[in-house]
Amino acid sequence: MKLPGTALGVCALMGLGLGCSSTQVRQAETLMGTVVEITAEGRDADLVQARVAAALAEIQRVDRLMSHYREDSEVSRINRGAGKAAVPVSPEVWEVITRALEISRLSAGAFDPTVGPLEELWNFSAAETPAEPPTAEALSRALAQVGWQKVKVDTAAGTVFLSQPGMRLDLGAVAKGWAVDRAILALKTPGVERALVNAGGDLRAFVRPGGKRWRIGLQDPRRPDSLLGEMEIENEAVATSGQYQRGFQINGRWFGHILDPRTGRPAEGTLSATAVAEECWKADAWATALFVLGPEQGWKVLSAAPGVEALVVSTDGQRHLTTGLAPRFRPASAE
Ligand code: ADP
Ligand code: MG
Repeated sequence: MKLPGTALGVCALMGLGLGCSSTQVRQAETLMGTVVEITAEGRDADLVQARVAAALAEIQRVDRLMSHYREDSEVSRINRGAGKAAVPVSPEVWEVITRALEISRLSAGAFDPTVGPLEELWNFSAAETPAEPPTAEALSRALAQVGWQKVKVDTAAGTVFLSQPGMRLDLGAVAKGWAVDRAILALKTPGVERALVNAGGDLRAFVRPGGKRWRIGLQDPRRPDSLLGEMEIENEAVATSGQYQRGFQINGRWFGHILDPRTGRPAEGTLSATAVAEECWKADAWATALFVLGPEQGWKVLSAAPGVEALVVSTDGQRHLTTGLAPRFRPASAE
């Protein structure tokens, strides 16, 4: 879907009445279940437009490879081989799975790309909300099919094997970030001075040396129409996991789509978790991990992840910022 205002040409930098020195192209499309907006600047509008199109194509390509909703994706092929066969995959899918498993290890399993059977059980994307949450028996059956340590990656053979029948890989908490990274790489070419790729709040910026930073706003999880605060970014990524985005309510109780792989139930205690890292796949994965862990446990495991900073808003409304992020974050209102 193309939104109105697609390929908007705007004079971003004016040279003291001498006219436009740079053109801004902005294009938004619905991809990977969210609105992906790309903004890019450079002197040659046609060239910038072509790079934006190439970046959007990259996001579609990653989705085709990694979506577990698509029958023909590599991830679905891996899932069909669960308990049966090691499946050869492309170097890119192999790379994402390997990196995802490393975050599982660092986060003590809070981030787990094998939550597929649990996501299927909860079925947050169902048209109708169930009358009851899953039973304890159903939960323990699904939990038995979850576990990042049961994913066998064979480096030499380039294969991935889900070693137990019924296992299902779900890269939903990392693939979007990876796609944003690929899009930035497509934009980072001669002629593009500055770019921002925002996939529904998972974003990454690119600025040439000496260029203007991007100012971004972070949504307030308690009032999604308002901002929690702002920050400026250069060549880095920011991703947010929020329970308010997807889930359902049963008997007045909210069940959100981010699951705690240790209990099989929606993670509790967090309203939103934002992670900042050099690359978006990493910010994406850590945002999910920190959502599950909360600040206390989260800050402990983060000490093994250099270069990752975070902001967690807990259900009591408290904001927790890592020491690296605190000086950069500007709250929307003095409280
Ligand atoms: P968003 O849906 O806003 O991108 P996330 O990046 O946190 O939020 O991704 C959530 C998705 O990741 C879920 O829809 C599910 O597919 C998967 N998921 C849920 N819980 C976990 C978890 N603990 N670890 C890894 N993936 C998860
Ligand atoms: Mg994530």
